[in-house]
Amino acid sequence: MFDQLDQLTTELQTFISSLEVDCVDAAGARRLVEIAERVRRAGDSLRTVAVGQVERTNAWKGEGAKSISEWLSNETDCAHYEAQSVVVLANQLQHLPVTTAALLSGDLSGTQAVEVARGAIVAPNTETQLLNLSKHATVRDLRDATSRVVAAATDEAERHRQVHKSRFFKSWRDPDGAFIIKGRMTVANGALVMAALKPIQDEIFRAARTSGDHERPEAYAADALMALCEKATTKQISTSGTKTTRPNAVINIRVDIDALKRGHTEHGEVCEIAGVGPIPVATATEYLGEAFLKLLVLDGTDIRTIAHMGRAIPAKVRTGVEERDRVCQVPTCDMSLGLEIDHIKPFSEGGAASFENLVRLCKRHHLQKTHDGYRLVKIDIAGSGGSTWAWRTPQYRDPPGLSDTG
Ligand SMILES: [Zn+2]
Repeated sequence: MFDQLDQLTTELQTFISSLEVDCVDAAGARRLVEIAERVRRAGDSLRTVAVGQVERTNAWKGEGAKSISEWLSNETDCAHYEAQSVVVLANQLQHLPVTTAALLSGDLSGTQAVEVARGAIVAPNTETQLLNLSKHATVRDLRDATSRVVAAATDEAERHRQVHKSRFFKSWRDPDGAFIIKGRMTVANGALVMAALKPIQDEIFRAARTSGDHERPEAYAADALMALCEKATTKQISTSGTKTTRPNAVINIRVDIDALKRGHTEHGEVCEIAGVGPIPVATATEYLGEAFLKLLVLDGTDIRTIAHMGRAIPAKVRTGVEERDRVCQVPTCDMSLGLEIDHIKPFSEGGAASFENLVRLCKRHHLQKTHDGYRLVKIDIAGSGGSTWAWRTPQYRDPPGLSDTG
């Protein structure tokens, strides 16, 4: 086995180092990235599964390392946090043969495997569902689904307490002199931070776009934090007498009506701060009545059934769409600023202003869909009861059997 593996690997490395990547055309370059991803998955998955066997056989002991992750980090020259996550995944995979097979065959990326394993290890009956989801959903959607599985399967109040106990806010200086901050807190508190920053960030983004600046969203988020701190540390002196108006911070909580009544979530139910993550039902209840809270109770008859045939979008539906689509819904697009609401079936063709027919897109994708013949197509995820979006170019022809709402 080792001779053959060695030979194949050496052949591959020799071949790769002989490639003249500079000479390939655009299509070739894309193909190379595709192939490289297959090679990477093969290597990464083998390393992960092999680390599991190193753990089981204690092969790492006796070489001076304090833990298997320290050994792996030394052995493979990777960062310690990377080694730690490989060790965690390797341990989880021992109990998840189907996920292990999907990882080794290249069907699953390392990132997807981490998410599937994280959910399947606490709720083994969700393994197939999460694997199915990983075939179509973006990593972000998969992570959200896994977080819900974990939240439903663990004692949420205890988990919340543990997270709160381990909270921190640290700062240090990088070798290049930059000031770095890092924090950890409960989802509820994190949401408060994000809700305070978001309106300022949006305001900065709009001002930047007006003046033709295009920087990364996280750069504007940092600017928003600065603006917030400046506001907290300087006295409000108004020379002109005009009041600045800024929309108030809002937190959207989505919760299933049954979970709200029962006091905790059960499998498949949702209690989460939209776009941030699951929270205990008790925390959601604590927030009830707070002015900054919009509670979206999911009882199956709520916003989904409101439709409006005019061009105007009812406020409740708008809120629902905004909290559901926190980023542009084109898969792989992560744009969260300057989003626009699109009628999936156009208003001119009788498309309703309903929860199901509206979707948020970034400016660029909205323009492509409205004017360039691009389509957003809903695809059912086999076995999960859920669905996901696919982005189709004007040339794309759907294979039979897919429902097309675009
Ligand atoms: Zn987009």
